[in-house]
Amino acid sequence: YIKERGRNGLCFYRRQMNLHLLERVRLDHAMREALLRRHFWLAYQPQVNLKDGRIKGAEALLRWSDPDLGNLSPAHFIPIAEESGFIVALGDWVLQQAITQAARWYCEGLRLLVSVNVSAAQFQQPDFSERLARYLAEANLPPDLLELELTESILIQNIEETLERLQILVGLGVRLAIDDFGTGYSNLAYLKRFPIHRLKIDRSFVSDIPNDESDTVIATAVISLAKALNLQVIAEGVENETQRQFLLEAGCHAFQGYLCAPALRPEQLEALIMRLGLDEPSAD
Ligand code: C2E
Ligand code: MG
Ligand code: MG
Ligand code: MG
Repeated sequence: YIKERGRNGLCFYRRQMNLHLLERVRLDHAMREALLRRHFWLAYQPQVNLKDGRIKGAEALLRWSDPDLGNLSPAHFIPIAEESGFIVALGDWVLQQAITQAARWYCEGLRLLVSVNVSAAQFQQPDFSERLARYLAEANLPPDLLELELTESILIQNIEETLERLQILVGLGVRLAIDDFGTGYSNLAYLKRFPIHRLKIDRSFVSDIPNDESDTVIATAVISLAKALNLQVIAEGVENETQRQFLLEAGCHAFQGYLCAPALRPEQLEALIMRLGLDEPSAD
């Protein structure tokens, strides 16, 4: 199995498609087993205020530690789950887990915004918003402490229907972000109509700052676009101080990346918050 996504995402996807059908079927079966056997868990990567380094939230990232197969990367198994449809059950488990964890933190006095990745098939389930509402109510979580990360690919299909769904979600009080922004084909005219709170600049536009001129231009343009539309903006994959300084000067609000920390176990994240401080999510 391919355990790590290479530096070059394209290369990864090419290998992904060459995975033998039998191997994909086996892996899909192993995933279903792993969910029953509780071999999945969520790691949380801090989202940091670019100005003062305080933590304002965390993205829940799925981890699979299998006694036989070892640690498998979501970049490897999520596409297979999407292909088979298992992502709907898996994503539902993620949503429930992340809400439970966020509620636990909230009870302990940690008002932390928790972001969850939502796949297209999951978002399109007719009962998605009902389930979400139920999980929030059961956990007693203030909905504004949950953010759903959607990809551009979700937003470009059936615009009117999507808009309706997004409005229902926003009506529940949760926050919405567009993940990997800039890699899809967002129709900028529609962006204005969607009730989105935040754009996440894809890591591919951050990794070569300040050396690659076109990446630098794109990152700056996304930040300006967010400003113009009155959206929050967060950069993914910030690994060094040069990138942080550049993004700060460009007017970006927050970042996620190894410069602060990778995705952590909940206790590790708590320890980090004790050291760096918490920047409570604002009401906007
Ligand atoms: P994503 O949502 O864009 O998540 C960001 C990815 O970038 C994570 O990879 C994170 O570990 C990685 N990353 C963060 N900071 C840095 C950095 O400074 N440098 C580098 N090189 N990488 C960094 P991860 O955890 O392997 O997840 C990969 C993708 O798998 C995610 O991309 C997301 O699309 C998907 N994924 C993960 N968990 C879930 C889930 O629960 N549901 C769904 N539907 N997808 C998920
Ligand atoms: Mg994400
Ligand atoms: Mg992302
Ligand atoms: Mg990304």
